[in-house]
Amino acid sequence: MIIVCKPNATKAEIEQVIERIESLGLKPHVSEGVERTIIGAIGDEAPLRVQPLELMTGVDKVLPIMKPYKLVSRDFKKENTVIGVGGAEIGGKRLAVMAGPCAVENQASLLRIAREVKEAGAAFLRGGAFKPRTSPYSFQGLGKEGLEFMREAKKETGLQLVTELMDPRELDLVVEYTDVIQIGARNMQNFKLLQEVGSVGKPVLLKRGMAANIKDLLLSAEYVVSGGNSEVIFCERGIRTFETYTRNTLDLAAVPIIKKESHLPVIVDPSHGVGLWDLVPPMAMAAVAAGADGLMIEVHTSPEEAFSDGAQSLKPGRFASMMKDLEKIAAVLGRSI
Ligand code: PEP
Ligand code: MN
Repeated sequence: MIIVCKPNATKAEIEQVIERIESLGLKPHVSEGVERTIIGAIGDEAPLRVQPLELMTGVDKVLPIMKPYKLVSRDFKKENTVIGVGGAEIGGKRLAVMAGPCAVENQASLLRIAREVKEAGAAFLRGGAFKPRTSPYSFQGLGKEGLEFMREAKKETGLQLVTELMDPRELDLVVEYTDVIQIGARNMQNFKLLQEVGSVGKPVLLKRGMAANIKDLLLSAEYVVSGGNSEVIFCERGIRTFETYTRNTLDLAAVPIIKKESHLPVIVDPSHGVGLWDLVPPMAMAAVAAGADGLMIEVHTSPEEAFSDGAQSLKPGRFASMMKDLEKIAAVLGRSI
């Protein structure tokens, strides 16, 4: 249910509505718009039929949300959500570019990459300290040491950090270091993990599962937002199809679809989407043209020596020239990079 307050509703009147919603056993989620306040009431709606909220002063109208996802839907909030991260933004006019190695490998290499991506215009440094690897024998990440290296790189470059959380037992540790918590494709439907990040005050970058449809993705975000954390960023990173040329099939239609269905920002990760470095720049262009709010790009100074995902990693020079090209596409769309 969405409760639309009157434009001139007072704070006290809105407070009364919130109290009524709580007393009926529902959970209120308040969204303060430019003109008016909207309250989402989530839970068993039966008591609302007995005590209609329309009768309260301060309430303009009460509308059902027909979609299975409620708080993340455009029905709940018409305006785009812009998420502030340090001095950067996700969902605003400037595209949010998150770049860096697949995995944090050592301090010197991370710092070198961080300097390069910063110089080329990225505002975020990505890098995995906890890596979800298909084989238990592959490099699993440096763990806490990797997070320390990320922190050092931030200190020097001012880049905001994005790193993956795989295990609820590492929640406090990851939250202490990172600015954006990444939930990987393999964990998109790890509902316990989603509930855990729903209770923290850091933005969550939610990657689409490789076998998940768009509705599944939206419902996974609903887990986080209904837990109290309204800062979720969607990430299209390709899905499994019968095509074998590319690592995954990058579903760029997901971008305008998610923008239509949800007020939350959407970014695209063409690196995992295609798995081949030379296809990354054209797909990054296409993603921005499709309306993406940002990009996640794997960059490595020596991809041939990378511990993981070297084949899809751009060298810094190629990344920088891609950023220049993206500037032109962004400008056509009234955005910047
Ligand atoms: C990653 O970003 O390094 C990663 C493992 O991505 P995904 O979860 O999309 O496979
Ligand atoms: Mn990777």
